[in-house]
Amino acid sequence: MLPTYSLIVPIYNEEATIHELYRRVSSVMNRLDATAELVLINDGSRDRSLPLIRELHQQDSRVCYLSLARNFGHQIAVTAGLNFARGQVIVILDADLQDPPELIPGMVEKWRQGYQVVYAQRTQRRKEGWFKRLTAYTFYRLLKNLADVDIPTDTGDFCLLDRQVVDLLNTMPERNRYLRGLRSWVGFSQTSVKFDRDPRFAGDVKYTFSKSFGLAVNGLVSFSKVPLRISTYVGLFSAVVALVMAILVLYWRIFVPHSPVTGLATIIVAIFFLGAVQLVSIGILGEYIGRIYEEVKNRPLYTLGEVAGFERQPAETSR
Ligand code: UDP
Ligand code: MG
Repeated sequence: MLPTYSLIVPIYNEEATIHELYRRVSSVMNRLDATAELVLINDGSRDRSLPLIRELHQQDSRVCYLSLARNFGHQIAVTAGLNFARGQVIVILDADLQDPPELIPGMVEKWRQGYQVVYAQRTQRRKEGWFKRLTAYTFYRLLKNLADVDIPTDTGDFCLLDRQVVDLLNTMPERNRYLRGLRSWVGFSQTSVKFDRDPRFAGDVKYTFSKSFGLAVNGLVSFSKVPLRISTYVGLFSAVVALVMAILVLYWRIFVPHSPVTGLATIIVAIFFLGAVQLVSIGILGEYIGRIYEEVKNRPLYTLGEVAGFERQPAETSR
């Protein structure tokens, strides 16, 4: 029989936390009102994580696992988990217990009230370095302002998803995945639960600065057209500057006797003007590349919450 709940946990070199993770997650699973599975995804760990995961699977039939052949990164590991999870309700959480599993029953409660996406929003990050907190804070605000969809601030991947949403995510072929963005993009009724983010249970952060930076760029590029338009904006700005300078130069030349303006001024105006033309042209190319990017991402045109009253399938009726 298929489980009702699937808990997805990506694991990369987490040998020091796996047992504690299992202890806390399984006690939550025991308390849930229906059957649950724990899907562990080994993301090419180089420590003893995989043997430990195998052991858990042997001890407890609710534990199933996938092992990726190398380290593909967190987002891909979670995607693999979403592909394999069989539950009606899917919960994604980190292995390091920064996302307290005890929050899950509360999230399930929201799901029962009819929400299809319940994401956990952190109110505080305890014991994380100032640099991480500052960069994360700035990034989430930047993303919120620039993104085309409303991506809530201070939410990680810790969330509950309804089967309907997961089926949709599984059909999206996008390779550079930013799940928090896609999760907002699909729509449906969404809500949050608030929590304080605990420090890591054990081990070091697996997200190096470059991995975090890559994820941040990915989020911005996948969900915002603003970076694409930067060169147009700068170009238009230079054009205005060139125009103002040209007017000033002309004015001085014609109306101010003995003005200090020399031929150099004309050259500078010309340079600014040409620069503006080039930047705007690059911006135009950018717009086309952006269109190509949209097409290649191959996201569905729309996502459906409900359909009623069609006797035949839409695809048939259109023929
Ligand atoms: N992780 C992963 N692959 C990676 C890096 C991280 O599967 O290449 C997993 C890691 O095991 C943990 C989660 O992603 O379960 C979050 O990683 P981490 O705690 O290092 O990041 P942070 O708490 O800074 O978001
Ligand atoms: Mg962590």
